[in-house]
Amino acid sequence: MTDNQFEIPNVKDLTDQHQIQLPDTVTAIIDGSLQGHDTTAFKLQSVCPINAEETYTVQESDESEVNAAVAAARHAFDHTDWQYLSHTDRKAILYKARDAIREHAQELATIQAFEVGIPVAGLQAMHMPRTVENFEFFIEVAGTLGGEAYTQTRNYLSIVTHEPVGVCALLTPWNAPTVLVSMKLAAALATGNTVVIKASEYSPYTLQRFVEIINDAGIPPGVVNLVNGRGHITGQSLVEHPDVDVIGFVGGTGTGKTIMSSASKTLKKVGMELGGKSANIVTADANLDDAIDGSLIAILAGNGEQCLAGSRILLQDSIADEFIDKFTQRMANVKVGNPFDSDVEVGPLAFASHYEKVLSYVDIAKSEGAEILVGGKAADGFSSGYYFEPTAVLADNSSRVCQEEIFGPFVALQRYSDLEEAITIANDSDFGLVSYVWSNDLPTVMKCSREIKAGTVWVNTPLTRDLRAPFGGYKQSGVGRDGLHASIELFTEEKTTMLPTQSLFIPKLGMS
Ligand code: NAD
Repeated sequence: MTDNQFEIPNVKDLTDQHQIQLPDTVTAIIDGSLQGHDTTAFKLQSVCPINAEETYTVQESDESEVNAAVAAARHAFDHTDWQYLSHTDRKAILYKARDAIREHAQELATIQAFEVGIPVAGLQAMHMPRTVENFEFFIEVAGTLGGEAYTQTRNYLSIVTHEPVGVCALLTPWNAPTVLVSMKLAAALATGNTVVIKASEYSPYTLQRFVEIINDAGIPPGVVNLVNGRGHITGQSLVEHPDVDVIGFVGGTGTGKTIMSSASKTLKKVGMELGGKSANIVTADANLDDAIDGSLIAILAGNGEQCLAGSRILLQDSIADEFIDKFTQRMANVKVGNPFDSDVEVGPLAFASHYEKVLSYVDIAKSEGAEILVGGKAADGFSSGYYFEPTAVLADNSSRVCQEEIFGPFVALQRYSDLEEAITIANDSDFGLVSYVWSNDLPTVMKCSREIKAGTVWVNTPLTRDLRAPFGGYKQSGVGRDGLHASIELFTEEKTTMLPTQSLFIPKLGMS
């Protein structure tokens, strides 16, 4: 392969071709207004992963700007009608927001591909419809919420109602910004809360446009606010703020631990969707072609930068050689390149330090005695940008490549002899987000379903979601769940009101 074989457009060409209007500086949105450019504020420099060119700056929200965003959300919650709206009125507003996201889906997918390098075709086909669906789903769920009434306590009616919690801080990562923020945002808004979003440093413009679009569609000022900046500055100010009532966090396990500790100072409610190192078990009785197709999707969709990546493939001895042979051939054929090219399957990794981190696991794997089966280096032929060859290694489960989340197109394969061993290996992890099982034998499938310590078990299918079903992690993959009941529980408080059903005798103290 010759040097620089692939033509990678520069930022000017990309923005012209895809009609992206880049700002000079991304700023916060508070009380419905995009904040002005402040020359004294700290700025982060954004870089396009497709060509490693600098793009815009991001104006960091310092403590005082975070305070202003929380104050706007607090005011909208405490002193406007928002939390008391009838479901019909709230639904009308949120459906307008839903429609606006749908109208701007192509723009939002284009900005995401430009900011984080995920192939635009997948963003258009999967992420944007899911973003729209998240809104629809929670608006409709909120319309069905009821309370409880108990009559078993003599002479009393006990009524249980659900109320919004108040001001929600939503902190999200860069790998699927609209999908992940909309999951929490839609649930929070549909139940009457107000919100401050902290965008990831690496996808700020996507969320700026997202918030502008839904606010322009009619969400009242102050109900959805947005701040930007580094985690230990902006994020920390937000999660420690005494006027924030609940934290919905999606991100790394280490960050989740720090945030839980900060949130404990004021005992905030928290929902944590964290990292993963998910096992993908292929049994001898599986349909091997399906297992290979599904395993490739499980590790390569979204550039492998997914919490739910199937990053440990466990192969039963009798089919291991055939699987490895076919899987690695296919992986070597995967087209890496510009995420705007329609035939590209894996784009550049999202930013320089992440690319360096993923690349560093090649040396880590080698130093631990793993065998590099395919890939294992920067992709050939790119003069700039963060392109990495999809990589598969054969490694032991105790090694770092099997225990640490790499968050890229990098998979570790292992062999096992029987199902007991496969389940033991699957569970030998600090994480427990999802798992995959490829088998045509019902008892095998049900044993995996029962015994694997993970929040989701996907059987003969990769990456399928049902919004009604809970999604979240065992162990260090999270606390709580997203889904029909879990999201409502996170964003509502239960209240008991007790009413006497007839006149009561109340003992009279202080009468003697
Ligand atoms: P990250 O933890 O580095 O950052 C997530 C967010 O937290 C960012 O907005 C960041 O600025 C903020 N943050 C960082 N430090 C903070 C602090 N001390 N206080 C407050 N906020 C802070 O994660 P990332 O690199 O953006 O995303 C990748 C991670 O997200 C992976 O581990 C992945 O598995 C996880 N993830 C999980 C799910 C899920 O549903 N379980 C989904 C997607 C991604």
